Amino acid sequence: MSLQVYINGKYYPKEQATISVFDHGLLYGDGVFEGIRSYGGKVFKLREHLDRLWESAKAIRLTIPMSKDEMAAAIEQTLAINGIKEGYVRVVVTRGVGDLGLDPDFCQTPQVIIIADHIKLYPEEVYRNGLRIVTASTIRNHSAALSPRIKSLNYLNNILAKIEAKQAGCAEALMLNHKGEVAECTGENIFIVRRGEIFTPPRDAGILEGITRATVIDLARKEGIPVHEVPLTRHDLYTADECFLTGTAAEVVPVVEIDLRIIGTGKPGPITRRLIDLFHSLTRS
Ligand code: PMP
Repeated sequence: MSLQVYINGKYYPKEQATISVFDHGLLYGDGVFEGIRSYGGKVFKLREHLDRLWESAKAIRLTIPMSKDEMAAAIEQTLAINGIKEGYVRVVVTRGVGDLGLDPDFCQTPQVIIIADHIKLYPEEVYRNGLRIVTASTIRNHSAALSPRIKSLNYLNNILAKIEAKQAGCAEALMLNHKGEVAECTGENIFIVRRGEIFTPPRDAGILEGITRATVIDLARKEGIPVHEVPLTRHDLYTADECFLTGTAAEVVPVVEIDLRIIGTGKPGPITRRLIDLFHSLTRS
């Protein structure tokens, strides 16, 4: 049976799951989204994802036409209808169909789309041997222009950096903020380890506040590993003992090379490996 996609309360087979070309989500990137995991039939950190979705919507003055409980039920139903226990859910809320022109008031009703599918971002080899990344020349959006805290449908900033990564033969790019400080990667938050302590850029470095980031900070602190949310420079990264990325789709990914410089020993370090194991114990039963 074809994948069933939720659009505004109804289910459509993948091939017929279409929306209007006049939706401002398509025309202007006017909308918000979330990426969520299901592990063993349970939606991981659902409340946190719903809270962030509602905050992103509020920041762009978009009213999601249902309650958080209704959204939670719709997400669970979409997974169940598709028989997906280990999967990935994409929730999209667009401004809706409207006339041409930026004015969001042209759009009457926001559209809610829920796709449940499978995702594999990196091959297994990357988790064992680590990822190589490069710094993109494209800086992360300035918070005063478009806050990176909004998970909006306009991801061109990140896509431009991703293109740079691929042109350099890498799967991911490091993005700096307008001050030249480390912000995050195109779809993951970044961490380093130095002398047994963990460091990651703070919220005001211009990052999306990752839910995996919060989970990993929590896991590390419970292990007694100090975690500092402080501004970081590329120097801090180049001289770190370990480096790793976190994200819903990627989970915890070791980084072993940045801008052709070897990080630490060039192999995933012990704290990174410990956090990968701890993360697995939360998500794999
Ligand atoms: N930064 C950006 C720009 C992202 O798009 C994401 C999500 N893919 C993350 C960080 C990681 O956030 P989370 O752990 O909530 O998936």
